[in-house]
Amino acid sequence: MSGPQVEYDVVVLGGGGAGLAAAVSAAETGASVILFESEGELGGSTQLSAGLFTAAGTSVQRELGIADTAERFFQHYMDLNHWMLKPGLIQTFCRHAAPTLEWLIGLGVEVPARISGNAHMPGLCQAGVEDVWRGHVPKDQGYGLVQVLDRARRGHGVDAVLHTRVQELLHDDGRVVGVIADDVEVRAGAVVVATGGLAQDRELVERHYPTALRAGGSLFVVAAPGSRGDHLRLGDQVGSGIVGQDWGLMLPTASFVRFHHWQAGFPPPSRLYIDRSGRRFMDEDASYAVSTGIIDAHGGKCWAVFDERARLALPPGYADWSAENVAAEADAGRVVRAATLDELASLCGVPAGHLRRTVDRWNAQLPNGVDEDFLRHNTLAAKGGKSSLSPIAEAPYYAVRVLPAELVCTHAGLEINEAAAVLDESGTPVPGLYAAGEAGGGVLGLRYVGGGNAVANALTMGRIAGRNAAQRTGARAGAGTTT
Ligand SMILES: Cc1cc2nc3c(=O)[nH]c(=O)nc-3n(C[C@H](O)[C@H](O)[C@H](O)COP(=O)(O)OP(=O)(O)OC[C@H]3O[C@@H](n4cnc5c(N)ncnc54)[C@H](O)[C@@H]3O)c2cc1C
Repeated sequence: MSGPQVEYDVVVLGGGGAGLAAAVSAAETGASVILFESEGELGGSTQLSAGLFTAAGTSVQRELGIADTAERFFQHYMDLNHWMLKPGLIQTFCRHAAPTLEWLIGLGVEVPARISGNAHMPGLCQAGVEDVWRGHVPKDQGYGLVQVLDRARRGHGVDAVLHTRVQELLHDDGRVVGVIADDVEVRAGAVVVATGGLAQDRELVERHYPTALRAGGSLFVVAAPGSRGDHLRLGDQVGSGIVGQDWGLMLPTASFVRFHHWQAGFPPPSRLYIDRSGRRFMDEDASYAVSTGIIDAHGGKCWAVFDERARLALPPGYADWSAENVAAEADAGRVVRAATLDELASLCGVPAGHLRRTVDRWNAQLPNGVDEDFLRHNTLAAKGGKSSLSPIAEAPYYAVRVLPAELVCTHAGLEINEAAAVLDESGTPVPGLYAAGEAGGGVLGLRYVGGGNAVANALTMGRIAGRNAAQRTGARAGAGTTT
């Protein structure tokens, strides 16, 4: 190519959590770094997220008197993922998550040492199914993380070039030596691919996360617009391996919902979930680490049953879960409404006797503060909520279809090792190529661990990738100049 050329030690593709962490950690070693971002602003899905960060053995946990270790985190992580991930990589992730959180705190991220009841209140929460509290919620959530990292980027003088979607790697004899960005040849000692996931590219979802399509017309994507799967197109140019096939995070949601819960609102607390047998089958507030799997094991969808009192108690101001909207959905025939439980059962196609018995048991238990079958009172207590709920007893009764339909992130990425180096199909590192975040495959697995698995992965592996990319090249004389 005979166009203009520039040269850097490290080129970072993508300005979300993984890319910013990589750029800052590379620059900390003295390397010259440039970052390309396809959109008009930095942040990606990381900026849209709650910023929930799972890590073990942190100063925040210690201040709250919570004993935890990377080894315990590793065991939980591997068990939840059925040991289908590479233990060496997961051990590295679990060991580096806490130091990465401390690094972020050192850069200015605030995680107050107090118990948080949910992913929106800064502090420490229990959002997953772990036995200790590991969900770190930063002030200003994902936006706050991005702001702090971006300030550090600017402090190190790292250029961020917006509106530049990079789709071509420069490679020489199997070694990655740079990228083509807007027809400019950008030479580099190493390239970090941190371009996020593939949720916004329908064709790639069909190929790499077909399970998501079971949601049919209810499917909606909340990942950032830049999540177009460019990591796979880039990796393909140098024969990278891919791992994480058909894994991702789908959140269970009502079939009429179209927004993430911040906008959509929340279903009535006094509701129960029944499967096609008309029986309750799960803790309705089970963590998203496991709830999708439970629903999948019961036919992939269920009914949320509640009554008029629960509908009227919905708080106003939300797009989907408001009293008015539920009534409108029922008027339109998209929510089942009936004068009696028997009629509701008939409309849902479940045995009426089973539904009646299920509701009777609910009324005898949860409104009195206990749930012997599914221990939901424990989940509610961890969320800081009251454990006493209302009986389901006031007509009309409602049934709403609930299914995994909100596509949050995808796990099919370029296979990486403990150094965040990209591996080819034989398992050999591709010289000069690193990947992290949703683009780097192998950390995010079958089950979403946490809350906070994906942000912790992006920032932890991004930091590792940036540091190793810089160390690989060394601060080469003359880098960072236009030729
Ligand atoms: C609404 C929402 C809430 C979430 N909440 C949480 C949470 O609380 N905790 C948690 O752990 N996870 C959460 N997640 C998931 C988590 O945010 C993401 O998995 C994680 O932040 C991904 O980080 P990333 O750096 O890999 O990708 P991103 O943050 O998406 O960054 C990738 C960047 O690369 C850019 N890009 C793409 N292609 C190119 C290209 N060819 N050239 C240049 N740039 C490119 C994109 O525009 C984007 O800015 C949430 C996700 C969403 C959508």
